[in-house]
Formats: sequence, C-alpha cells, structure tokens
Amino acid sequence: MASKTYHICTLPGDGIGPEIIAEAKRMLDEIGSAFDVEFVCEDQLIGGAAIDATRAAGAPVSALPPKTLEAAKAADAVLLAAVGGPKWNDTTPGAVRPEQGLLAIRKRLGLYLNLRPVHIYKALRGASTLRPEFLEGVDILIVRELTGGLYFGQHERMHDVPGAGVDGAAGDKAVDSMEYSEYEIERVVRWAFDAARRRRGHVSSVDKANVLETSRLWREVAHRIASENPDVREDDVLVDNCAMQLVANPAQFDVLVTENTFGDILSDEASMLTGSLGMLASASLGSGTALYEPSHGSAPDIAGKGIANPIAQILSVELMLRYSFQMDEAADAVAAAVEDVLDAGWRTPDLADDATPQDHVLGTTQMGDKIIEAFRARTAR
Ligand code: NAD
Repeated sequence: MASKTYHICTLPGDGIGPEIIAEAKRMLDEIGSAFDVEFVCEDQLIGGAAIDATRAAGAPVSALPPKTLEAAKAADAVLLAAVGGPKWNDTTPGAVRPEQGLLAIRKRLGLYLNLRPVHIYKALRGASTLRPEFLEGVDILIVRELTGGLYFGQHERMHDVPGAGVDGAAGDKAVDSMEYSEYEIERVVRWAFDAARRRRGHVSSVDKANVLETSRLWREVAHRIASENPDVREDDVLVDNCAMQLVANPAQFDVLVTENTFGDILSDEASMLTGSLGMLASASLGSGTALYEPSHGSAPDIAGKGIANPIAQILSVELMLRYSFQMDEAADAVAAAVEDVLDAGWRTPDLADDATPQDHVLGTTQMGDKIIEAFRARTAR
C-alpha cells in the first residue's frame, strides 16, 4: 500500500480534453509507483459534456452540475482539460455555454491567484517568435491576481449624457472601476515571495504607480513584504516597461507578480516566447482546492484524431505535484522527462516543422508513452 493517497477530481471536458487527460492519468499512475503515492482520479462533467448530460437527464441544464462542484471541493486537487466547441455555440440570450462552467468553478473554489510558468525548451527555441539568442536562460513564473481589479469592479453604461457625444452632443459614457484591498494584494505578493525563495530569489512587482492609486497601494504592500523578506530581491516595474522588457530581455525576470488585468495581458504576451500553445500549463490557487489546466482550449479542429499534444496537460500535473502536494522531486522528474523527449527529437504534429523526420512525429498516446519511458529512466533507482 502506498504511504499516501491523494484524491483528484478530473474534468475531461470537451474536444481533445478526454484524449489529453488520459495521458495525464497514465502519468499520475507512473508517478505514484515511483514515489510511493496513490492518486485516485474521479472523472466529473464540465462544459459542453455537462450541458448535454444534464439536458439528457431532464435536470436543470448546467455547465457545472452540483455533483461536479461537490467533488471538486472535496478533492485534494482538480485537473481540468478544456471546454467548448462549435456544438455549444448557441448565442441566444440565456443559453448555457460551456465557458460558464469554467468561470463558475474558478469562482466557487475561491481561486484568487493564477500561475503561468514560461519555460523555454532548448529543442523548441526555433518555434518562438524571438530570435534564439534572446531566449537563453528564460524561465519566468507569472503570478496574477485573479479575483480583484477592473474585471470585478463596477461596470456601468450611461446613455444620453450631455456632451458625451461627437461635437458636444449627448452620447453614451461608460465606466469600469478598479478596486483593490490591501489583503487582496498581500496574499498574492506574499505567495510570490515564497515562490521566489524556492527559485532564483527575485520578485518583479508590476504596477502603474505613476498613474493609478490601486498601483500605489500595490507598491506599498510589495515594499512592506519585501522588507520582511530580505533574502528575496524585489524591484518595481511599470507595466508598460514590463511589456517591453518581456520581449527585449525576458531572461531578467524570475517571479513576476501583478494585478488581474496587467497579468492577463502580460501572461499572454509571455506565452508567445515559448512558441507553442500545446506546451503551456497553468495553476489557479486559492483558499480551497487548487485547479490545474493547460492554457489552450478544446481544439475541436483536431478532436478525435489522436494527434493532440498532451504536454501542457502533463505539465499541469507537474504544477499540481509542486503546489498542491509539495512533491518537488517528482515534479522535477516530470519536467525533465518532457525535456528529454523533446531533446530526442520527438514531436506531436503541432510541434513538428520541416526539419522533423516523419517517423519522429507522434500521436497523443505515443507522446504519452515516450514521456513515461523518459520518466522511468529518470526515476529508476
Ligand atoms: P484552442 O486553444 O482550442 O485552439 C487553437 C489552435 O491551437 C487550434 O488550431 C488547435 O488545434 C491548436 N491546439 C490547441 N491545443 C492543442 C494541443 N494540445 N495540441 C495540438 N494543437 C492544439 O483555441 P480556439 O480554437 O480559439 O478555441 C476552441 C474552443 O476552446 C472554443 O470553444 C473556446 O471557447 C474553447 N477554449 C477553452 C479554454 C479552456 O477550456 N480553458 C481556453 C480557450 C478556449
């Protein structure tokens, strides 16, 4: 019997979701055997699959059925694949859409912090939009606040406001308010400092303190936490400068922490450094169960063909090991196995280029096999 058991709520969702999550589960079995841990996975419905199932059962149509939410809350971690697809693109008002399941689960699990590692694989440097010499040493952890700021402020539209139209006429006016409380900033920045201590010991706190009051508060809190953590180097970066530095000299960053809207934009910008959507995992953490998922969608254009890249999903498992189970050694072995497979020239079709020999282009399961093989080689005792 394994020394420890973890319960994972697995959410395959739609499109390629079931195909890639199957590889993650096989990986979990391997990790369990190598590290004397048992992972018990329980599939639940979310997204389009949940809409179809609830409708067929005559229950209230939902992209996040109550049973799924209960299972997610009770689990030690949630592993999600992706949701959505053309079948559920009903735009009539009131129609239930798969993405509602995603927003709802993030909210109901109280996830207030999102992590996106940006790691450059040597073997994939050619796929980046930047020249390879700019990518040397790039390894960034983006920590984004997830439940405050502009996206959760007051959104208001006013009609027929005198002077708001063209040439002094009446017109529409819109307001989105941006709010942050000290505790909302503190819990995220503190987390970033703790993460930096386990990495290269450097936090870049991103704000717009020369203009925004929320940013001035953000900076004050960041400085207070920095003074309590003298072993971690902290610097302040204005968001416009940060956007520029991410493409000019990305290797200077270690942990980058910022508020919701800035983080949304900067993490998408930074993801392009890696060159492939199929490689990017993310984690959302909060007061309860954490959720791990690839950054890509359900790729309906390739669903069912057995050619989806399972790496982002497998790297979501790596993050789960690190941040939910404190299994850093196992997480390192998963990351190294992925790197080994890429170094050996194996590719799924999305990663292949003209130089890839045809016999090195693998399907989803074959790529899973290769990563498991490399993981076994790494963990053989
Ligand atoms: P997408 O990420 O699903 O696909 C974009 C492109 O990347 C496609 O050509 C796809 O084939 C390719 N791709 C994505 N993941 C891949 C993988 N693992 N392996 C190989 N190729 C991969 O984005 P989209 O096409 O804009 O959206 C498709 C559906 O996914 C939509 O319904 C959208 O709403 C949904 N979506 C869901 C999430 C989520 O579940 N978190 C995120 C984004 C989009």
